[in-house]
Amino acid sequence: MLVMKFGGTSVADAGAIRRVVDIVSRAPDSRFVVVSALAGVTDTLVDALRLAGAGDRDAALAMARAIRERHLDAAGLVRDRALRDAAVRGLERELDGLDGLLRALAVLREVTPRSGDAVAAVGELASSRLIAAVLADAGLPVRWLDARDLLVTDDRHGGAAPRLDDTAGRLRDRARPHLDAGSTATVVTGGFVGATTDGATTTLGRGGSDYSAAVFGACMGAREIQIWTDVDGMLTADPRVVPDARPVARLSAAEAAELAYFGAKVLHPATIAPAVAAGVPVRILNSRRPEAPGSLITAGPTGREAPLAALACKRGVAMVDITSNRMLMAYGFLRRLFEVFERFETSIDVVTTSEVSVSVTLDERTRLAEIVRALEEFADVTHESAMAIICLVGEGLRDHPALAGAVLGALDGVTVRMVSQAASRRNLTIVLRDADLPSAMARLHDRFFGRAQAAVPGPDATGLPADDTASACGASA
Ligand code: ADP
Ligand code: ASP
Ligand code: MG
Repeated sequence: MLVMKFGGTSVADAGAIRRVVDIVSRAPDSRFVVVSALAGVTDTLVDALRLAGAGDRDAALAMARAIRERHLDAAGLVRDRALRDAAVRGLERELDGLDGLLRALAVLREVTPRSGDAVAAVGELASSRLIAAVLADAGLPVRWLDARDLLVTDDRHGGAAPRLDDTAGRLRDRARPHLDAGSTATVVTGGFVGATTDGATTTLGRGGSDYSAAVFGACMGAREIQIWTDVDGMLTADPRVVPDARPVARLSAAEAAELAYFGAKVLHPATIAPAVAAGVPVRILNSRRPEAPGSLITAGPTGREAPLAALACKRGVAMVDITSNRMLMAYGFLRRLFEVFERFETSIDVVTTSEVSVSVTLDERTRLAEIVRALEEFADVTHESAMAIICLVGEGLRDHPALAGAVLGALDGVTVRMVSQAASRRNLTIVLRDADLPSAMARLHDRFFGRAQAAVPGPDATGLPADDTASACGASA
């Protein structure tokens, strides 16, 4: 059995949905299909929620109307009349529910995390009903299942954590019987959405459909979890920053997790852990080019010789410098310092320390002012926003201790504010001004992965043959 997850752009419009039908129909196994909301719908729902919360009922309902029209238009893809009528009824049920919620919130003028989840979930509830109908219309034996009956989570609305045992039980009862019916058996559900044991709707956080797919695949012991998206796999860098980026054929799970955490949006950062724990490989594939091999992520070694798998970057990060206002760092200083971040529920990405000071970066800045005030009770604090992080990731880093020198060499002339090499030595992280990020990424990518044409085997700048990732750093390190 395969878990096949289709992201928002893969179900964005009629053309994309037809490609999904082709891809699913050709799968050699029974399939458990997980879909995101149609591209842009979750953003629109979040906007509608904000407007309703501000009491602007008409503007919120206008957004809901646009979402309704988009889904009902797409339902025109279903040729069979009875299937189409049933799909439209299902969609209208979800979309009427959305209108009701927005009306109520506009009266109350108050959005809670719980009501926010009920609204945000509509995107996946509707898209999954639509895709199920289109697949059934193509002749597949399809069963639509409500994700809230499958994915059991805790009650942290907006970023709920799945409960694997409960979810496995639900899947055994509700999905297994259909999947076991034959090799074309197809179950369709929405990603991103779950429910507490009490039945309150939850969501896993933005981009969470990947995470849903991984949880479903892990709980059911799938042969593979396929993440179908709009690029050819995990690329050597964010293609919006480095247009030359190209796919990485194989990644270790630890590399993929590190890249996802440090900004490779193609994978939700929590996706890898459940898949690895269950020994299920994850493959990232392009729904626009299904013939491309994609990227395969497994727990084991990748066989890659080059030390680096890829670069990732995070923009809009804040950096905080905290200096002990005693002369030296007394013991207890670090504890007090980290307690402040714990109290304000803000996680730290990168840390460096010296004898008297600690520098940290945060990408969640909502509580920065409170954090600074609390730190100032025992330390001198300065902070800067508009910073960025670049993370160089590769299992081979540990065997190439001189790589840090090559990285700084490639960035000659750029002001590097922090450098940190993880104890796992699977990543090397640098912090710099956001304005310097595009040129720094371009230089690092050129240095370690070469330009796109350097992927053709041949001598690279170091005079060594380029391997499949065309990295030149094996030579320098
Ligand atoms: P989906 O809607 O399929 O979940 P996302 O938009 O969440 O897709 O993720 C795919 C996007 O991730 C790509 O279009 C690309 O712009 C971005 N991205 C950032 N870093 C990387 C990377 N290293 N490899 C591939 N894609 C990346
Ligand atoms: N639709 C949700 C979002 O846009 C979840 C996802 O696409 O993974 O964040
Ligand atoms: Mg995504």
